[in-house]
Amino acid sequence: SKSAGRNTMRFFDPTMQALVAQRTALESDLRLGLQRGELLLHYQPVVDAHSRVVGVEALVRWQHPQRGLVPPNAFISIAEQTGLILALGGWVLDAACRQLAFWSHRSATAALTVAVNVSARQFRHPEFVEQVMDTVRRTQASPQLLRLELTESLLLGDTQDTVRKMGELREHGVQFSLDDFGTGYSSLSYLKLLPLEQLKIDQSFVRDVLTDPNDAAIARTILALGQSLGLSVVAEGVETAGQRDFLLQCGCTLFQGYLFSKPVPVEQLLLDDPAAHI
Ligand code: C2E
Ligand code: CA
Ligand code: CA
Ligand code: CA
Repeated sequence: SKSAGRNTMRFFDPTMQALVAQRTALESDLRLGLQRGELLLHYQPVVDAHSRVVGVEALVRWQHPQRGLVPPNAFISIAEQTGLILALGGWVLDAACRQLAFWSHRSATAALTVAVNVSARQFRHPEFVEQVMDTVRRTQASPQLLRLELTESLLLGDTQDTVRKMGELREHGVQFSLDDFGTGYSSLSYLKLLPLEQLKIDQSFVRDVLTDPNDAAIARTILALGQSLGLSVVAEGVETAGQRDFLLQCGCTLFQGYLFSKPVPVEQLLLDDPAAHI
């Protein structure tokens, strides 16, 4: 029939076919890249109210031989869909923990926390807790200085499993941040249930915090929520002194953003002199 013909035509839509081919190529490329050691970490400082670096967030990049430096938004979601995120996430955790262990031997960097992004699919894996603890032991990283960043999408899954896994890691000293807070689905009752230490105000609320009263209200609300639940709060995506000063006035004491430093290769982190970045 005509409609079946149309469906067939749609199936062979050249743009869709090209997209599928592109994704397949990217996936096998990423698999190879992981094996060939093409992934690397950049680190972005987290600073306190005095602009002192108190920690860093590890952010993955892919140094592709032809494409150049590929940002995570171009490959994380494909890695999640194909399951490659398990190997990729394992690599990130290992590299971040090795760096953490190295820093802990230098007095200037001994107290720095290292935050690692964990995708929901990675966290859901039955052996996630063992993977983290094995990595910590193997690298001799201090679990107290390791911070795992989870997103609210995790709360859509099995809550009991989430609470159990977080609790086990928390007992070993590992801390948890809820990333991109305010953009997802978290119900406030979950917040009480989870052994969290930190909320991260998503950069979409920080961007217009000086001009959009709604964003300012959301930022204030998250800060108040953090305070009443005993959680620290980091403002992400802080690009201007005006944003920082406003958030500071609202009670925010932890900041991350281009105002202080972009994510940089480890050699470029000026941990002793964060003011040099401003
Ligand atoms: P995220 O975890 O929310 O990380 C913050 C992102 O905001 C980073 O982008 C960072 O470069 C960017 N950023 C920081 N400060 C500013 C600022 O002042 N202004 C603006 N406009 N942007 C700023 P990046 O590195 O491209 O990472 C994007 C996302 O990719 C991350 O968002 C995270 O969700 C994901 N990601 C990165 N590394 C990993 C990883 O190792 N594992 C997993 N599962 N996801 C990762
Ligand atoms: Ca993050
Ligand atoms: Ca974030
Ligand atoms: Ca984000």
